[in-house]
Amino acid sequence: MSEHILVVGAGLAGLSAAMHAIGSGRRVTVLEAQDEVGGAAGVWATPDSVFDTGPTVLTMPDILASVFAAAGAEMDDHLSLRQIEPAYRGYFPDGSTLDVLTDVDAMADQIANKISPAEARGYLGYVDYVSALYRHEISSFIDRNLDSPLDLLRPDLLALLRMGAFRSLDAKAAQFLRDPRTRRLFTFQALYAGVAPTRARAIYGVISYMDAVNGVFLPDGGMAAIPAAMASVIEQRGGVIQLGTRVTGVQRNAAGAAIAVRTDDGQRLPADAVILAGDRSRMARLLADGRSDLRPLRYSPSAYVLLAESTAQYRNIAHHNIHFGRSWAQTFAELESGQVMSDPSLLVTHQNHPAPGSAPAAGPQRYYVLFPAPNVRAGPVRDDYLGIMLDELEHRGYRGFSDSITAHRLTTPGGWLMQGYPAGTPFSAAHSFFQSGPFRPGNCAGRNIAFAGAGTVPGVGIPMVLLSGRLATERLLSPR
Ligand SMILES: Cc1cc2nc3c(=O)[nH]c(=O)nc-3n(C[C@H](O)[C@H](O)[C@H](O)COP(=O)(O)OP(=O)(O)OC[C@H]3O[C@@H](n4cnc5c(N)ncnc54)[C@H](O)[C@@H]3O)c2cc1C
Repeated sequence: MSEHILVVGAGLAGLSAAMHAIGSGRRVTVLEAQDEVGGAAGVWATPDSVFDTGPTVLTMPDILASVFAAAGAEMDDHLSLRQIEPAYRGYFPDGSTLDVLTDVDAMADQIANKISPAEARGYLGYVDYVSALYRHEISSFIDRNLDSPLDLLRPDLLALLRMGAFRSLDAKAAQFLRDPRTRRLFTFQALYAGVAPTRARAIYGVISYMDAVNGVFLPDGGMAAIPAAMASVIEQRGGVIQLGTRVTGVQRNAAGAAIAVRTDDGQRLPADAVILAGDRSRMARLLADGRSDLRPLRYSPSAYVLLAESTAQYRNIAHHNIHFGRSWAQTFAELESGQVMSDPSLLVTHQNHPAPGSAPAAGPQRYYVLFPAPNVRAGPVRDDYLGIMLDELEHRGYRGFSDSITAHRLTTPGGWLMQGYPAGTPFSAAHSFFQSGPFRPGNCAGRNIAFAGAGTVPGVGIPMVLLSGRLATERLLSPR
């Protein structure tokens, strides 16, 4: 009988871990507290619409494809992805707009026409720069288990130092991009990692590579199609997914090795190895040995997320729309000091935006509106924030938005806390330098226990948590 690996949590990290474990010939059981797979990549349904509730920007589909390949499956047999172009539409306080086009030549043409040929040349230089960052970072530092800061001492580190990758991201980008609009469009992605572009190191420019250069994708059926497809491959390959089962503890033998897990419905499930793929700090408590290896973490800002079913159609918007406030530099300082943004920067995703050449979707329109906000440790949850969001949308050109809503759901930082995300942020520990790479809470918890997910290495976001599943499995299959 092959080894039995228990995976706790059927978010994208847990599903990735399960697929890698299955691919290595292990028996796998995934235990998920909720009644559906996907974790943060969940759905909310009204009688007429199904919304994606979490991630809406899918990047690096080749990483997703590698997870299917690890389980002996072809992603294309299970998921149909299309690239979204423009990846984003950026709206600036002066009333101008810029589309983020993945086609580099088309993007350069747009910048040359709307700003200047010199700025277009700067953009091409920036694309080369962030592409080189990606090449130097991915295999040496991101898709690799690092055991100590000494593991950073690789030839790629020297290359990154030479490239000025440890200088300020904003200052580095300014060497290429002189116009504040292009600079915002190609550095705002640091916010995904919970770091202000003005304070981030240039190494985080790699996130701009992942979306603005490599492209943004959308599965047929929405983002929830991803965990659904992963779960179906796991089950086709003999894995078991037990929903509605909350793990309450990991039982260990005298040597500290996991031998079973216990669940809230009284089950004791024997295991040869365990992967804990929920929030890392909460998962560490399941080990119940009174030991906490966690230092206090600084958590990313959170968000108010409004899902609005609506009768309104806005002809000039794109799939992803980023509306920048005037006081961009101040925004992050406000979020960190516990205040809501005085001049918001926000994302509007039109989830049923028509594909190019298609007619607008009939029936209700699905708008997903995300306002960054302080996490609950930084500041209080505002009961009046829905009104503030609706007023701001009206002001940003979404005329009649409030009156067009036929159903809605608002998730506040308090709501994320109730869902089990520490500090009320689903974006986990911020990727400050000392919470990244070998300094991030690690994925090893003994000989046969590993962590996966946004709270451990390499970090937050779909590509990273998919890699975390691989790295956790690698820990168990080739322990230190
Ligand atoms: C609003 C929002 C927008 C986002 N936007 C993007 C985006 O556009 N692009 C992007 O790449 N990323 C985005 N992200 C981040 C990305 O979605 C997450 O980083 C990623 O999905 C986290 O996956 P995970 O598996 O680590 O954790 P989770 O998805 O949180 O999964 C953990 C799972 O473990 C289960 N669990 C916890 N405890 C137990 C227990 N004791 N027993 C059993 N099960 C348990 C939970 O129920 C959950 O299903 C967004 C997230 C949110 C919420």
